[in-house]
Amino acid sequence: MKERHPFAPDLGLAYCRCVRLNPSAFFFLCLQFTSAACESTSPSRLARKPTDQGSKVTIETLALEKKVIPLRYRIGDFRVSDVKLPDLLVTNHRGEPVRIEKIVVQGMTGQVEVVSLSISRDHLDDAIREGRALVEAVRKGPVYADARGIVFGTLRPTAEVVDGRELAPGTSVAILLSPLVHLIQSGPTYLDEVMLTAITSDGAVERRIPLVAADVKGTYEFPLAGTDLVATNLGTNPAAHRSCQSQEFAADILAVQESRGGRTSHVGDGRKLDDYFVFGRPVKAMEDGVVIGAVGNTGNSTEPHLHVQLMDSPDLVKANGLPLRFATIPVSAMGDDVGEASSLFHVDSMVLPPQ
Ligand SMILES: [Zn+2]
Repeated sequence: MKERHPFAPDLGLAYCRCVRLNPSAFFFLCLQFTSAACESTSPSRLARKPTDQGSKVTIETLALEKKVIPLRYRIGDFRVSDVKLPDLLVTNHRGEPVRIEKIVVQGMTGQVEVVSLSISRDHLDDAIREGRALVEAVRKGPVYADARGIVFGTLRPTAEVVDGRELAPGTSVAILLSPLVHLIQSGPTYLDEVMLTAITSDGAVERRIPLVAADVKGTYEFPLAGTDLVATNLGTNPAAHRSCQSQEFAADILAVQESRGGRTSHVGDGRKLDDYFVFGRPVKAMEDGVVIGAVGNTGNSTEPHLHVQLMDSPDLVKANGLPLRFATIPVSAMGDDVGEASSLFHVDSMVLPPQ
């Protein structure tokens, strides 16, 4: 899950090996947060079958604890909804085979379809193949990580998970939508629901996914002090923290200086920990600003940095990551035209105002 750093070529690429979920590898700040779900009960024009347990084919999220939390922000009159779709589990409860033809994704606002797209055979075949590989790996342990950087907690109890769009009676397919589609919608309103529909040889089957509002109020203390801070690997980069359920809106904080051709996070060749400008800086608790430690490095990341994430539960495996805001960083730090934002970090990286 390495991603190209937006800064200068001489800036070391800082990223957590977050998928390994080694809590000792980074400063880990966890705060309880209560969020409210948007609710909608409209029927889909595509759907013809309910998806309760009594139906013949069902669609569920692959991870039991998964919430779909969008980034929401307004630029001028445009409201942007940035949605990472959940991975799915489609199960055939019928007594005869069922074939999945395609998956339709609809972005909804107030029970009205705003945007739609369909995922058909070739991409669907790939997503199913990847899904089966993921399930097999997760079943070996409670936490799974691979080159895709996908981490989540508990799989739904499933019968046999097959590799292909043909589902024999009693079998399931896992469909990895999260690395396949990153839905970003811009318009006069925010999306409040995503409708996922499987078009099968037995008809269309739907699953409503409420988009969970998680608007942090911006009262947290920023955990580092300095006039040289940048936040990287942010929520719009689907290959970085966003690929992990509990780290979806996390940030890696570095200190940088101007360098020939750009910025750099260290002096010299960066071989020593104290070459890095951020190394050893006091770290404050986000809730009350009390110093709780210093930036270090235990070797499980590319360079010293402060990893910050907010979760809805202290359980690293099952938690959902939440958007971040801080008292001393207004949303306008992301740009003069940003009117509101559910998270500071709807950009890939940002230079922070003095802290
Ligand atoms: Zn990180």
